[in-house]
Amino acid sequence: MIDRLLESNKKFISDEFEPNSSHYSKIAAKQTPRAVWIGCADSRVSEDIITGSRPGTIFVHRNIANMVSFNDVGIAALLEYALVHLKIKDVIVCGHTRCGGIAALENGVKENYIADWLCVGSEAKTAADEIAQKQRLSPDEKLELLTMENVRVQLNHLKKLTLIRDMFQKGKTLRLHGWLYRVETGKIDVLIDGETGRESSVMRRFKKTSRKTTPAKSK
Ligand SMILES: [Zn+2]
Repeated sequence: MIDRLLESNKKFISDEFEPNSSHYSKIAAKQTPRAVWIGCADSRVSEDIITGSRPGTIFVHRNIANMVSFNDVGIAALLEYALVHLKIKDVIVCGHTRCGGIAALENGVKENYIADWLCVGSEAKTAADEIAQKQRLSPDEKLELLTMENVRVQLNHLKKLTLIRDMFQKGKTLRLHGWLYRVETGKIDVLIDGETGRESSVMRRFKKTSRKTTPAKSK
């Protein structure tokens, strides 16, 4: 496996790097990424590939279940560098379907560190539990809802960080986007619009009050 990775690097140099040498020499001198990506560490969700982006485009933080934790100095430092020094205006929190972290959040997990980490998404679990019960969702629907609620909650965590609160107070441009990547189809759905902050119809799908109401019996 490791040999294959190094072999593929040679192919990357001949097929991508050398034919696009002007791009790579430009970013070798200075990186100017356009977006921050906060995504899951899952191997199926490669932000560059699924968005058709070349190296130099996206500044990346990935962890289990795309969390934004208040006591995570790693993400705080990354955001400070990305927003203050690189002056990036767009931050994307991207969840994905079939997320093991979200399944563990739903079903519970015994491993200590994983369980502690997933507490960062506990607000999403509470919200999803309530909606799923009201709407009588199937287990698969509930997991999708929890994945989306977790994106919403992590965007809220972002908004509460002092760094970001200060930027908004000073009227600086910063757009926070909530996305869902579907590993079954490769499609990205927008959950929360970064310009308006509005939830999309995909995000609201499981929250409609009229859903699953029993039709009146004909007489
Ligand atoms: Zn995941």
